[in-house]
Amino acid sequence: MGLREELWTWKKEKVAEKVAENLRKRKHEIWIVKERKEVVEKLVELIPEGSSVAVGGSLSLMDAGVLDLLRSGRYNFLDRYAAKSREEMEEIFRKSFSVDYFLSGVNAITEDGRLVFLDGNGNRVAAVIFGPRNVILIASVNKIVKDLEEARERLKFISPMNAKRLNLTTPCTVTGWCEDCSSTQRICNYFVVVETGVRWPGRFKIILVIEDLGL
Ligand code: SF4
Repeated sequence: MGLREELWTWKKEKVAEKVAENLRKRKHEIWIVKERKEVVEKLVELIPEGSSVAVGGSLSLMDAGVLDLLRSGRYNFLDRYAAKSREEMEEIFRKSFSVDYFLSGVNAITEDGRLVFLDGNGNRVAAVIFGPRNVILIASVNKIVKDLEEARERLKFISPMNAKRLNLTTPCTVTGWCEDCSSTQRICNYFVVVETGVRWPGRFKIILVIEDLGL
């Protein structure tokens, strides 16, 4: 590891420690891991074999190899990516509300511990808020922002990349900038902030990853 990378890793660890403290105050459980490969190891520890599991769409989960684990046969995985039609996928979205574990990325985390999501369909944020008995969020330190205002700015900046990744025909996939569109394919419909987990302490389990994941 070169000096530059070493210093950035050190700084990111300090940021993670501070934010983890604030997330714990909001009644979430937190684990900090250095590398993406440790995410799968942590999930094996956290999710009992045979549990029912579903996921929200997330590049971070893909980056960390989580889908391979879920497809290994160890769990009862409701695989949204295996759906053969829109109807089948929506059925999986609905069934996802009653799984033992719902896994998702998170779009931003504020320094004081608020979890920020931006959704197109709303199925992911709905399941994050209510339904599944446990919600495991995988987030890298590059998702941490100062406050909600910066979260909004960040999401506006990166959403065109998400639209491009999904092969959409929204205006941002041409210009590279958010055009606040009215497209039926718009992916920025539900901006949701999880303030605390006090109603069900520990329902949110957050794996903070030092290495960058997702966008
Ligand atoms: S609101 Fe529309 S144009 Fe803006 S980022 Fe979202 S999908 Fe793209």
